[in-house]
Amino acid sequence: MTYQVGQKLRGGVAKLREAQTTPPKRFTDGTLISAMTNIHRFVTSEDDRKILRDTKGIGTERTRDAIIETLKARKYIVTKGRELVPTDLGIELILRLPRELSDPVTTAKWEMALGLIEQGQMTRKQFDAMIRNMATKLVEKMEGLNFDVEKLGVKTVEGKPRPELDATLPGHGEKCDKCGKGTMQGKRLASGKKVLGCNAYPKCKNSKWID
Ligand SMILES: [Zn+2]
Repeated sequence: MTYQVGQKLRGGVAKLREAQTTPPKRFTDGTLISAMTNIHRFVTSEDDRKILRDTKGIGTERTRDAIIETLKARKYIVTKGRELVPTDLGIELILRLPRELSDPVTTAKWEMALGLIEQGQMTRKQFDAMIRNMATKLVEKMEGLNFDVEKLGVKTVEGKPRPELDATLPGHGEKCDKCGKGTMQGKRLASGKKVLGCNAYPKCKNSKWID
């Protein structure tokens, strides 16, 4: 059917209906893996989409499972039923990280550079310089980024609260008698035990219990 300029069209009957939008469904392990594989769907630039499609997404078939397991182990996400739910820590992290680190386009750029190396249009030296430059900028950006670990409930790997620094303990601030470079720091563990440890850890493992 074709229309003519000036032609009058009859409008259909429009009704106002009250409804609510529904949020997107939460990811499960399965749908998250599929989203990582098809990450190009989440990117708007056509060039970036193409690169991400050609490189088959984030991670490889072998590493995607492990990436999700790491997110769980670091408490960025938890499983509720089959759904993956972000924790406060995970949300905080994503909101505060420089965009380059949470943007799949970064992966696309790196993959593109690797492709250029493959075609002999970029040297390894140039690639190294590119990554180094980017890492330096990212570290500068992240300097001073603080997380309220207590509020977020972050625990050490063993599930124990972090030891608290206590400058009033005897020996605190003294030069380490083992490596001669580090300074001994007084710490109180959750168990009430007191310990002096060299701040050059893990290079120097000097530590002493305080009675
Ligand atoms: Zn030391």
